[in-house]
Amino acid sequence: MITDSACIFCKIVAGDIPCFKLWEDERTLAFMDINPANPGHALAIAKNHAPDIFSLPPADLAAAAATAQRVALALRAVLAPAGINLVQANGPAAAQSVPHLHIHILPRRADDGLALNWEPIPGDMAAIGELAARVRAAIV
Ligand code: 5GP
Ligand code: ZN
Repeated sequence: MITDSACIFCKIVAGDIPCFKLWEDERTLAFMDINPANPGHALAIAKNHAPDIFSLPPADLAAAAATAQRVALALRAVLAPAGINLVQANGPAAAQSVPHLHIHILPRRADDGLALNWEPIPGDMAAIGELAARVRAAIV
């Protein structure tokens, strides 16, 4: 397993720091967030250490996504929230505070005031199309 001795989530994977565990399998772990934005706020991680979406191998990302889905289904069964957001941050400007890739599973209530949502404002189609061409060309 790839691990970083300075990483708080690697310490949770190793059992050196406790967590409220929800699910564990060979590749992944899910546990409650200790600073819940809403009741039921949970995190799904790959056990292998990788800071972000740029560095996590696709198989680990797929496994973490499957675990997030399992937890979302359980949260829906237990809490019947009005909605659930999956949130995954990369880099300080995206508000990532723990550099071990994690997927937030975040139950939502109507009018819970969490500042995650934005109003859709129609874009400039020419600019969108031009950017799409540049990104398409960069996909490997
Ligand atoms: P980020 O800001 O990187 O998207 O999310 C990191 C999350 O990890 C935060 O929601 C924070 O509350 C949570 N967190 C930080 N340290 C610990 C910890 O030691 N245990 C648990 N369970 N969650 C943690
Ligand atoms: Zn780590």
